[in-house]
Amino acid sequence: MYDLLIHGTDVLMINGPLAQVLPGHDIAIESGRIAAIAPAISAGLAREVINASGMLAIPGLVNAHAHAAMGLFRGVAEDVPVEVWFNQHIWPMETNLTDEDIYWGALLGIAEMIESGVTSFADHYFAMDEVARAVDESGARALLAWAIFSGADEEAQLQRTLTFAERWQGTAGGRIRTCLGPHSPYTCTPAFLARVAATAGRSGLGIHIHLSETSDQVANSLAAYGKTPVAIARDAGLFAVPALVAHMAHPTADDIAIMAAHGVAVGACPKTEMKLGAGVTPAVDLLGAGVAVGLGSDGAASNNSYDILEAARLIALLEKHTRRNAEVMPVGAALGLATAGGARCLGLDGAIGALRVGFQADIALLRLDVPHLQPIHNLPAALLYSAQPADVDTVIVAGRVLMRGRRLLTIDKERVLREVSARVGRLTERRDGEHMAVYPEAW
Ligand SMILES: [Zn+2]
Repeated sequence: MYDLLIHGTDVLMINGPLAQVLPGHDIAIESGRIAAIAPAISAGLAREVINASGMLAIPGLVNAHAHAAMGLFRGVAEDVPVEVWFNQHIWPMETNLTDEDIYWGALLGIAEMIESGVTSFADHYFAMDEVARAVDESGARALLAWAIFSGADEEAQLQRTLTFAERWQGTAGGRIRTCLGPHSPYTCTPAFLARVAATAGRSGLGIHIHLSETSDQVANSLAAYGKTPVAIARDAGLFAVPALVAHMAHPTADDIAIMAAHGVAVGACPKTEMKLGAGVTPAVDLLGAGVAVGLGSDGAASNNSYDILEAARLIALLEKHTRRNAEVMPVGAALGLATAGGARCLGLDGAIGALRVGFQADIALLRLDVPHLQPIHNLPAALLYSAQPADVDTVIVAGRVLMRGRRLLTIDKERVLREVSARVGRLTERRDGEHMAVYPEAW
């Protein structure tokens, strides 16, 4: 007996750069996994049936780099360069955050992600027990890292985050996994990065870090240490464990070879990167060298949304635009970054990121009966270039239905919106001299 049967849906299959659609298939789910995909499975074999005729089933989208709770700061720092964004706005305001603020902010971000078909995300933030609680309750899937910085209390920070990582690893029925989160080489010394790497290695954990976001960061790193941020990370031992690096907008040829040799995965965030004028992750170059690439939103304080279909659309357009070549980053490749590529970033390749028997039943169903998707000559192209988050009708994670008919079933959205709006005024206050960290002019 199947737990759930999705009946009569078109099914998106992505193989390398090729995307195709199986028309009018059924997807059977048992014990949280996809048990069968076939043209006609008897409804009598399932406890529950979702009639999905006229819909498209896609693998749940994967957000490979997020700060879910940063939706609390959506729109507070617009049209400013990255050092002003950090030092004058975000890091002073983040000192206002309480644990409860982060819990409600994370739920806001997760609600937005589920509503746009995102089922998994790699998060990097503070008070991560609160984010884990939000992930557990919402039914989403996540790889969680507590961001840490060098400073007088760096050893205490490392121990606290290790305790967090060990407490939550594999919880929520396996939906929550953890890693260590050294923020970046511009906020962590090489010696501290080496201690983080050694701790991760001893504890069987990976790492998630920001690397080479701007060309200035690479130039400053070369001036200070004679090495790129990638070489610093490698020499600290961070690539001896599973490593997810966010942004990577400015890799050298040597950096790309280093990342390929060490199996490093890159979470590209094209919207944030463009918006901060930072330069954009060269996804085609990375993929060509065998580096895994997924798509992230970064926080909604810089990205303004957690929409991963938008990220896929942007990376395809950027590659075509900058290379003056319409043939690069075809539809299937861009959709692959948002699904299987993200799965690689989260260390879940072979488990999520595709609709395949034996994979986790992480599925989004999109309505197709809307003017902006019709008529359909090429369904994968309609998904990449025309679909909107509001087309997502139903979202399933590990076989559990989290949204149906656009109604969230695990999150009290009205309460989340109330809690968030009650906090907004206090969160944007500034107190002289207080800040989470400092973005250095040079280091
Ligand atoms: Zn980030």
